[in-house]
Formats: sequence, structure tokens, C-alpha cells
Amino acid sequence: GGQQQRVGIARALAVKPEFIVCDEPISALDVSIQSQVVNMLEDMQEEMGLTYLFIAHDISVVRHISHRIGVMYLGTMVELAESYELNRHPLHPYTQTLLSAVPVPDPEVSRSRQRIVLEGDIPSPMNPPSGCRFHTRCPYATEKCSQVVPFQLHLECNHGENGKHGQRNHLLNHFQLHDVKRSPTVSEPQTVSRNLQTVFKKSNGPAERNHPNQR
Ligand code: SF4
Repeated sequence: GGQQQRVGIARALAVKPEFIVCDEPISALDVSIQSQVVNMLEDMQEEMGLTYLFIAHDISVVRHISHRIGVMYLGTMVELAESYELNRHPLHPYTQTLLSAVPVPDPEVSRSRQRIVLEGDIPSPMNPPSGCRFHTRCPYATEKCSQVVPFQLHLECNHGENGKHGQRNHLLNHFQLHDVKRSPTVSEPQTVSRNLQTVFKKSNGPAERNHPNQR
């Protein structure tokens, strides 16, 4: 299994690249073959110092292989953070939904988790919804979400006691951080740290600076 993928990877490596775009490299494979191909990619990365842009729908595989993860919905990057940060402290409702669907191999933890199920169908990318593209399915959507495109928040987060996990950068397209705090548990009791500091490092125009939720 996975022979076509292996040949494709070998062809890509033949030109001694530094950067490889892996577009859905394992989506057509059985789970056991998926792990072989992912392990091979990791070995190659270590041996050759490669950088991958790994594109996949399965967030459990993505978080295994990635150092940094960008979550996209209908062609828009809704959240960008280091793999650990995104996995432990997802802030965007869509990221939380994806992570809540990942199986946990511990029955107790699995029983205590709440799966987030989105209602409705994915809108057509040819005619995306106005405002926040996620508003037709977001459990926290307000009227404003359908009218205004959310600006990009640049957060610097300190999680754990005394920020023991260090300061981590987080990019987010979302209006309502206070609602995110009330969202269901994902993989561990979710804590949007009290140390969370919202820092607007980037101000991309008057609409962002004047946004009522800015704080
Ligand atoms: Fe949901 Fe509104 Fe945030 Fe979009 S901006 S994710 S619709 S709460």
C-alpha cells in the first residue's frame, strides 16, 4: 500500500528540495499505511532538514506531524498557532469542533468529552456567506457576525501555572473571546488563561481599530 505516494515523495526528493507541499498525501490510504507514510515523511524531514506544508482534512494527523497549524474554513484561515497551543487551547469555534471529533483512546476521558456537532451544510465556496464565513454554522454567531468580517486578532497567551508553557502566539479570526471561554471541553478542561493578553500588534485599518469588541 501507499506505493504511489512513496513514488511521488521520491520524485519530489530527487531535486533536493528544501520545501515540499504535501497536498492530502495520505487521505486515500488505510490507517496503517497512513502511519507508515507519515513516519517516512518525518524521517526524511529529520535527515534532510526539510520543511513541509502539510495539507489534510484529518486534524489528528495534522497535529501529529506539524509544528504549526493553520485551520481553514471556506478558504479563510480562521486560526493559526503552534501545534501544542492549538491542540490544548483552541480558541476558534471551528477548531474546537474539529478537535472534539478526534477519538481519544481512553474510555474515561472519552466519556467526559462533549462532541460538538455543527448544524447545516457547508455553504458553497463559490458564494460564501457575508461577514464571518462560519456564521451560518457557528453556535455563537450574532447578528454582527453576518454583517462584519472579523478582524485578525493577534494574541499572546500564557497558559499553565505562571505561564509554564511559555508565551505563545495565536492568530484568530473571531469576534467573541468571552463566548469561547464557555465552550465545551475539547481534550482537557479548556482554560483560556486568565493571563490571556489580547495584544493588537497589527492594526489593519480604521474598521479594526474601531471594532466594539476590541479590548
Ligand atoms: Fe462565530 Fe461570529 Fe466568531 Fe465567526 S466571528 S466564529 S460567527 S462568533
